Amino acid sequence: MLLLSGPNMGGNELKYVTECITTGWVSSVGAYVDQFEKMTAEFAGTKYAVATSSGTTALHICLVMLDVKPSDYVIVPNITFIATLNSVKYTGASPILIDTHAGNWQLDLDVLETFLENETEQRNNTCFHKLTGRRIPVIMPVHVLGNMCDMDRLLATAQKYNLIVLEDSTEALGSYYKDKHAGSFGLLGTFSYNGNKLITTGGGGMIVTDDEGLAKRAKHLTTQAKSDPFEYKHDAIGYNYRLVNVAAAIGVAQMEQLKGFISRKKEIIAFYKNELENVGDIKFQEVNADVNPNWWLPTIFTSRQREVLKILNDHKMQSRPFWVPMNQLEMFKDDLYIQNDNRSDFVYQHSLSIPCSTNISDMEMLGVANKIKEVFQ
Ligand SMILES: *Cc1c(COP(=O)(O)O)cnc(C)c1O
Repeated sequence: MLLLSGPNMGGNELKYVTECITTGWVSSVGAYVDQFEKMTAEFAGTKYAVATSSGTTALHICLVMLDVKPSDYVIVPNITFIATLNSVKYTGASPILIDTHAGNWQLDLDVLETFLENETEQRNNTCFHKLTGRRIPVIMPVHVLGNMCDMDRLLATAQKYNLIVLEDSTEALGSYYKDKHAGSFGLLGTFSYNGNKLITTGGGGMIVTDDEGLAKRAKHLTTQAKSDPFEYKHDAIGYNYRLVNVAAAIGVAQMEQLKGFISRKKEIIAFYKNELENVGDIKFQEVNADVNPNWWLPTIFTSRQREVLKILNDHKMQSRPFWVPMNQLEMFKDDLYIQNDNRSDFVYQHSLSIPCSTNISDMEMLGVANKIKEVFQ
């Protein structure tokens, strides 16, 4: 099976993990955790980074720190991976789902701005939903597939309506808007090291921020909020959301290869675009001129999506449909969905991701492209 986006363990992973095991530093503290955090902050251009057990737990801790309450709303895009919405639900809050832009597949800024203008009001510099009176403290843009929207416009809108920006930048390690790294725009940003992401620790996550207080609090809350170095005194309801040293050791080895992985992803998308653009009605995700995406998961757009999925998977070339829009899932079907012609469904019905592991060969990509072309012959 040719994997969609599998791990590439081509560096010092084994060496560093072996070191953890031979020294006994396998668990919750250790030099690799610190090093992984430092390397990530440096790469993302933020002052601080705090490692977590997953991208989902990173998002959850951020929402806890922002004091999101069960009576609140949090704004999220309608097309995202489920983890974004789960993290909102863990706090008891409800999502407001914003429709997807048909070209770049990010949260649609026109839809967002119309909603905020017509359906919210400001009280004491806080955003409230007029109809329900519920507070809207936070917006979570998701950099879908490592692409980004017009961030200047999003940040200006967030500021105008007093929304705190928490970036779900879990897919966007190595993505930039005007040379600034994803995750460094909001008060808080997040990364994921799940097995299919650009780099992986098996499973893991990271919170990035320039705010020292939030960074310290994130470390504290993810390590059971223990407040005394010796005695078991705790000063809050904490979480066991820390990343273990063995996983961080893999993370350090992966970070050493990150630049190479990003260049390979760019070669992969260039290869596929060269082979497939304008074959039948195939299109690729639109990219704003100010965005330099990591091209984590090359995804094509075609009316013959189901046929392409079938032929590729029949030939053991793993390809996947896009995520089901959140408003179509049972748990979120009664939540607020602010739409423009249900573009999310349109994007969902047309898109599929194709094999793009960083260690895929050009021959393998050519095989994928040729299979796709067969559908249109
Ligand atoms: C991967 C991902 C996450 C976090 O996932 P984990 O598997 O918990 O690390 C969150 N949001 C999006 C959009 C993702 O793709």
